[in-house]
Amino acid sequence: MSGIYIHIPFCKQACHYCDFHFSTSMKKKEEMVLAIAKEIQMRKSEFSFLDSARSDNKIETIYFGGGTPSVLTSEEINFLIETVYSNYAVIENPEITLEANPDDLSSERIIELSKSKINRLSIGIQSFFEDDLQLMNRAHNSAEAKKCLEEATKYFDNISLDLIYGIPRMSNEKWKQNIETALSFGIPHISSYALTVEPKTALNKLIQTGKIAAPKDEVAQEHFAILVETLEANDFIHYELSNFGKENYFSKNNSAYWLGKKYIGIGPSAHSYDGISRSWNVSNNSLYIKSIQENKLPNETEILTTADRYNEYIMTGLRTIWGVSLDRINTEFGSEYLEYLNKQAQKFLSDDLVFIENNILKPTPKGKFLTDGIASDLFYLNLE
Ligand code: SF4
Repeated sequence: MSGIYIHIPFCKQACHYCDFHFSTSMKKKEEMVLAIAKEIQMRKSEFSFLDSARSDNKIETIYFGGGTPSVLTSEEINFLIETVYSNYAVIENPEITLEANPDDLSSERIIELSKSKINRLSIGIQSFFEDDLQLMNRAHNSAEAKKCLEEATKYFDNISLDLIYGIPRMSNEKWKQNIETALSFGIPHISSYALTVEPKTALNKLIQTGKIAAPKDEVAQEHFAILVETLEANDFIHYELSNFGKENYFSKNNSAYWLGKKYIGIGPSAHSYDGISRSWNVSNNSLYIKSIQENKLPNETEILTTADRYNEYIMTGLRTIWGVSLDRINTEFGSEYLEYLNKQAQKFLSDDLVFIENNILKPTPKGKFLTDGIASDLFYLNLE
């Protein structure tokens, strides 16, 4: 199993909270598409796991993320998909996801996309309320959010939408309405995140200068509890801390990542993982294009230590429904790591924040919201 992630580093406007890599200038869009296609080609022999002679080593998922991949034309998207197909072995029905924003999803565009190989849409709704969208500086409005879902559900069965909670001035009632509105479209997958304030964002500046109130942890915690309760009552499975899917609709791309599978990241700022090392491309559009044009991959690589791999497994394992297998800790990382984990987990076990069942460590309902903090306390810090 392996996947290809393609980062499209352009957005129409900058959302106040975002610290992803993107540019709001589209000047280099065409050059970028050509450079991305070339990188797809250049890296085809890089990973031995992409061996077309072995049926279990085919590409199973292709994921267009960003940025806003829906700013590409359908021709550009199809061109990149075909470039993957002509350079890699791909399984028969791969999951091919396009992250898209409502303002790019007119009825015509949705029909066009439904005729392409894209078979999953991940739509950045964030909120159905106008004041929230304005506060976050989203490029779409509430009417566009609803209209695009009405249309998209006619042509796509596999749709995910993103919602943000913990937004200043968002009451519990308003948050419930957002979830109910999302559910009314019958979509099978929801990703939902707390609004976080990253250091170099406009949101941080607006908070520092007193123009916007800072999001409160207690509010986010209440919203999270409402989210879990409402979605579970509507047959969604809470399979990753921020992700809920109906049966058979978990994101295959993201699940593979959380299960520690290998993947190739193409495009500026994209990360790759080959089971031993992690590499990441330069987060600069001009430098990326220049380097690819000179036939040089613009990336840096680090070999992961056992402690890095253990820490990563703790983080992703605790966040997912699959939990952290103590047997796997023992066989893959050794008894020293297992002893360490048992010792570190004691306080969380006695506070009823985690539990062990069938030798699998998982957060309790009470511990779920605190998962990231618990995981970092279980990290192994004695570097090799
Ligand atoms: S559209 Fe997405 S990637 Fe672009 S600025 Fe907004 S949140 Fe960030």
